[in-house]
Amino acid sequence: MARAFDAEGVLPAGDVLHEACGVTGVYAPKEDVARLAYFALYALQHRGQESAGIAVSDGGSIVCHREMGLLSSIFDEEVLSRLRGYIATGHTRYSTTGSSVVVNAQPLLESTELGEFAIAHNGNLTNTEELRARLLPSTVLQATSDSEVLAKLIVEAPGASLVQRIRSVMEVAEGAYSCVLSTTKALYGFRDPWGVRPLCYGTLPSGGYMIASESCALATVGATYVREIDPAEIVWIDADGFHSEAAPEQEHQPALCTFEYIYFARPDSLLKGRSIYTARIAMGRQLAREHPADADVVMAVPDSAIPGGIGFADESGLPYVEGLIKNRYIGRTFISPNQKMRDLGVHLKFNPIVENLQNQRVVVVDDSIVRGTTTPRIVNLLRQAGAREVHVRITSPPIVNPCYLGVDMATRRELIAANHSVPEIRERIGADSLGYLSVEGLVESIGRARGEMCLGCLTGEYPDTVRPSEPALSEAVHA
Ligand code: SF4
Repeated sequence: MARAFDAEGVLPAGDVLHEACGVTGVYAPKEDVARLAYFALYALQHRGQESAGIAVSDGGSIVCHREMGLLSSIFDEEVLSRLRGYIATGHTRYSTTGSSVVVNAQPLLESTELGEFAIAHNGNLTNTEELRARLLPSTVLQATSDSEVLAKLIVEAPGASLVQRIRSVMEVAEGAYSCVLSTTKALYGFRDPWGVRPLCYGTLPSGGYMIASESCALATVGATYVREIDPAEIVWIDADGFHSEAAPEQEHQPALCTFEYIYFARPDSLLKGRSIYTARIAMGRQLAREHPADADVVMAVPDSAIPGGIGFADESGLPYVEGLIKNRYIGRTFISPNQKMRDLGVHLKFNPIVENLQNQRVVVVDDSIVRGTTTPRIVNLLRQAGAREVHVRITSPPIVNPCYLGVDMATRRELIAANHSVPEIRERIGADSLGYLSVEGLVESIGRARGEMCLGCLTGEYPDTVRPSEPALSEAVHA
């Protein structure tokens, strides 16, 4: 997805999808676990940049440090050196429920008669109010996020062990929750029965274990990816080693978020053992077959659309060129240029490479169009740089429904494809042609069964945990 400018012209605020969070856990008696969690979170920073935290247990108590901001601004040698122990839980957050304040930063610390625990949650519950009503009247909620409700439910759940308590919460909690939880003696990982958000585990060369939202976090610290944690599975690691409890019975269809493949996950991550990069290349190839273009060069909007652009170029036999250079250092605290600078055409996020675009018929590949505020600016930028024709190709089908599972997308009213046909969108973005990847083409490129994925925002095929607030549109309506 293009991340060039917001509606005002600069910040990437209006037309991007935001992921809910990244989580990690480490159990490694022979390692500096806080440092491992820190580097794992660094690899997951793309999943959330608002706040981050690490909780560490030394076997006796849990110490937690969490703050607003990027990892690099929160942790330094001094902070890490205070986090000593052999079990760590880490979190990096983008808020979808609950405001962006430090009290909502994670891991959250809770205490039960079984001892204290730290929990990090990625996802979005769909029945938070119902769950809130289940809590004891005396329960005080400090934060405003659904994650705290989940944590309190575990505290109050029946069961003589944490596994039993987590299982009983799974029976009532609906929506997306991929979680890492640590006590003073053990590390747990569990995933909602639909498996909406990814969660995997691996082993460390020293004999320890790691859990993470994406395998890129394991690879970053030298851990070996073992497998995804299955929907409704609970895994835990303690002094006796690794344990797992599968779902008692498979009651729900799995529904991994398709946008993990299209956009969220890092291309070097694996899902079900297959790299996201490979899937994105396949999407680009399929897109070229479905919507070929009479053009001279192919480029992609950096960064997430690059594999799709390479696949499109390969399949169509056209050269792949870099058309835009992205400034990767523009963060959330970035100072906006004033109107005068914008009028002068200041481009802070992307700059075009004129030599590759001048007098060329250009195919530009991007991964999605949400509100449609960014794509016209990209098209315009390419034309200003001398492109003779601009053909936009999108590696996702049109987004026609909102997400209820933790992706901060847009309302139906704001989604351009929910309100306009493809020819109308082409006209609005000012492209010479526009083509979206079909749902069938997307599913085939991903290589997973359609029934294993959530396609709610694209086709209305939400998992049975979602009760849309308005009738969902099928992609056929707007194809
Ligand atoms: S509705 Fe779309 S963004 Fe939300 S979980 Fe489903 S596929 Fe992902």
